[in-house]
Amino acid sequence: MIAFVLHYHEIALKGKNRAFFENKLMENVRFALQDLPLRVERLQKIQSRLWLELLPTQKETPAAFWKEMRTRVQERLGRVPGLANFAFAHRESNRCLDTLAAKIWQTISPATTEVSSFAVETKRSSKNYPRTSVQINSHIGAYIQQKSGWKVDLTRPDLRIFLEIVGENALFYTEKIPGIGGLPIGVSAPVLCLISGGIDSPVAAYLMMKRGCPVQFLHFHSFPFTTKASVEKVEQIALQLCQHRLQSKLYSVPFGELQRTIVAQTPPPLRVILYRRFMMRIAEKLAQTANCKALLTGESIGQVASQTIENLTTIQNAVQIPILRPLVGLDKDEITRYAKKIGTYEISLEPHQDCCSYLMPAHPATRTTPEQLRKAENALDIEELVKRACQQVEILPISGQAP
Ligand code: ATP
Ligand code: MG
Repeated sequence: MIAFVLHYHEIALKGKNRAFFENKLMENVRFALQDLPLRVERLQKIQSRLWLELLPTQKETPAAFWKEMRTRVQERLGRVPGLANFAFAHRESNRCLDTLAAKIWQTISPATTEVSSFAVETKRSSKNYPRTSVQINSHIGAYIQQKSGWKVDLTRPDLRIFLEIVGENALFYTEKIPGIGGLPIGVSAPVLCLISGGIDSPVAAYLMMKRGCPVQFLHFHSFPFTTKASVEKVEQIALQLCQHRLQSKLYSVPFGELQRTIVAQTPPPLRVILYRRFMMRIAEKLAQTANCKALLTGESIGQVASQTIENLTTIQNAVQIPILRPLVGLDKDEITRYAKKIGTYEISLEPHQDCCSYLMPAHPATRTTPEQLRKAENALDIEELVKRACQQVEILPISGQAP
């Protein structure tokens, strides 16, 4: 058997909704591990943390099997939104500190050849426990010191022994692994992410997943005026974002004809904002059928001409549904760092023909007003254009692979 203690942070702050958040997190943890040759023997809440025990589904379990399983479980847990940190851990009754100290020593000593200093860090969640954390630290510490000859170093020890007293149990471990934090997917409403193939929009999708939103994807392409490469690229990005078996959908909508209509009938400087307003109108319609409660983009203030506060406002004004822009305050370096971390950067760098660079005006307006746009759109049959685009939508299922 292998076991893990899982810590969440923000969920612990939720009042009455806490059980809902915890249950969602447990559901997502189970799902992330489902295809490994392991069975969840136990997954339970104990005082603001989860305890997970895994048994093998196969008979032969050599040491190499457990080593691999530990790595793979850690990899999976490291991508489950809602986990602040987690650890490969052991559980023991806390009644007798001497027995506990002996158990800790017996468990950790085989793997500690390079150690010459250590520290014990106890957290006590059971208020009725007769000893304080400091007393437990020194009791366990004295035992380990006597067995090992290591010196105690509370600031920079070679080895930290973490101990958590919860209920009747003591959990202990030596390596705390950071999770990605945030909230479990599914506790917030679903959103529809407008994804372009660039660096920004995948990062926006990731950030909202981390706020608990299931994300679906919408891409506009200019095929047959350009190649369809952008659709394949965006599909790859969506798969990367849905790794670990998340399920989603990619809506792909041809936009070239609509762009040509805009180009033929409106002033060049307003084109980009008009493209965006039409994208939002189409997205709003599709969001209704996809049951998404908000749209999501990778826009960031000042990054390009279309992303001034004035232009973001005139884009929002085309629709009722809220447009979420989690990157508004980030600069390109910060966004790029995220993109590298989540593994979408390399895919985004691949060249593709973006539908917006196709038929791009030389001098896009940086400060449009609602009045200007209303006037320009008088020349267009908005409802008909949106309806026609929605009729041409293609839907691709996205089913993230396990690594
Ligand atoms: P990105 O790096 O995500 O492409 P960008 O910096 O290139 O963003 P723009 O091209 O101005 O910025 O696009 C702003 C946002 O509009 C994108 O982040 C995306 O949400 C949306 N968007 C742009 N083009 C498309 C498209 N072809 N299909 C779907 N959404 C798009
Ligand atoms: Mg782009």
